[in-house]
Amino acid sequence: MSNRQRYTKIIFTIGPATREVATLERLINEGADICRLNMAHASHDWTRETVARVREACKNAGRDIPLMMDVKGPEIRTGDLPAPIVLKEGDIVDFICQKENAENDNKIAYKTTVNYPDINKDMKIGDTILVDSGLIRLVATHVFNDRVRGRVIIPGTMGNRRHINLPGVRVNLPCLTEKDKGDIAVGIECGVEFFALSFVRTADDLRILRKHLHDNKSKALIIAKIEDQTAISKLHSIIRATDALMIARGDLGIECPFEELPTIQKRAVQICISQGKPVIVATHMLESMIENPIPTRAEVTDVSNAVFERADCVMLSGETTTGKYPIQSVQTMHRIAVESEKHLPPTYQTERALTNPRLKMLRSAALLAHDLDDASLLVFTRSGNLPRIVSSLRPVGCPIFAFTDNPLTFRQMNILWGVKPFFMEFPELPEHTIQQAMKILYKNKWVHPEQWIVVISNVLTTGGMTESIQMRQALTLEETH
Ligand code: PEP
Repeated sequence: MSNRQRYTKIIFTIGPATREVATLERLINEGADICRLNMAHASHDWTRETVARVREACKNAGRDIPLMMDVKGPEIRTGDLPAPIVLKEGDIVDFICQKENAENDNKIAYKTTVNYPDINKDMKIGDTILVDSGLIRLVATHVFNDRVRGRVIIPGTMGNRRHINLPGVRVNLPCLTEKDKGDIAVGIECGVEFFALSFVRTADDLRILRKHLHDNKSKALIIAKIEDQTAISKLHSIIRATDALMIARGDLGIECPFEELPTIQKRAVQICISQGKPVIVATHMLESMIENPIPTRAEVTDVSNAVFERADCVMLSGETTTGKYPIQSVQTMHRIAVESEKHLPPTYQTERALTNPRLKMLRSAALLAHDLDDASLLVFTRSGNLPRIVSSLRPVGCPIFAFTDNPLTFRQMNILWGVKPFFMEFPELPEHTIQQAMKILYKNKWVHPEQWIVVISNVLTTGGMTESIQMRQALTLEETH
């Protein structure tokens, strides 16, 4: 199977289940489009070795896929405990932000430190404290100058270094931790194409990462992971400031009432498309496939819904890190996406107010390709901007063939809905560039001789270069006669 006829892209997270070069080669051949490295569980040596394996698998498969390094960001965790604490309903627990203060904790049996020095400043009585990805729930009953005290509402066993969520609290931790900076340095050294930043709360977090990447001479693109209520309240500005968005439904479903999740997802996807930013729907898409070779009916529908919402990418996490059926998980996503895409109504963003004349022109090109029936779009780019905009018009049924002479852009374009990237040195004259690209498409059977190709390209006019829309057919090429 190949990703030839699929518009929605598939991201897989690499882990022990998929780290062998032969397995990676299979995943790439089955149509995986991006490989994600989750730095919550990765050492630097592991990362270097893993990137080398992915690049080797790409070479073997004859298809380059990009890497996304997902950095942990400001995650709140409990500290080390001498032994796990079994918490019952009504038990009282202290979450200590600084050094233990002997004066006011002598009556409290249960306590743990937290890596959040200002937890007492940012929380108030009545706020919720969730431990271990929401399994244990407490309500804050007291706020002292060195700790927050909570009463257990939903019991459970609290172990070492458990993840804490504070729904509705604006967490004041730096967006890039020292660990993140160390991980990013390794990512830059390995040439990863994307950095995903966890727990983005404002557009400023993205500006800080962008400056950090710029200062360290990286041209990687930034993916903002939205995971809490603060991010949801700043969705428009975050999307404006990022290169792409990930709807990280794992934490989002803990930080927000879970019944709001589908609406948040729909809204985030819509805003991204209207701002021309790629968007990823992530987490628990085929969760049951960690253990089983086929998905639940609800999971099939979840993937299909993301395709109908026209998300750029769907993502696999545990299914491909430790799951028993990683290859089948990618095959499953491919099958669901291909089938659902057959039923997508064409839009070309007709509901979007296109004030920009260039956008109007691009929409005309997309409409033309649609009206020609079985046609495709051909674009040329150095930065990836033009295919990103054309992709955001979601020209259903019209693949976007995007040629670039920039190897980084070539790999980064894998994130874009409907875009098939090609690498090619550009001849000096636009006409030669078009001819050469059409030859590649024809020789590799991406188009047949009679098929219409709507080309968006510069032409030389007396006033200089002018952007044009042209209708071409491969039968005009010499080799086809
Ligand atoms: C998520 O929370 O959904 C997510 C993708 O982030 P992580 O896997 O880093 O928890």
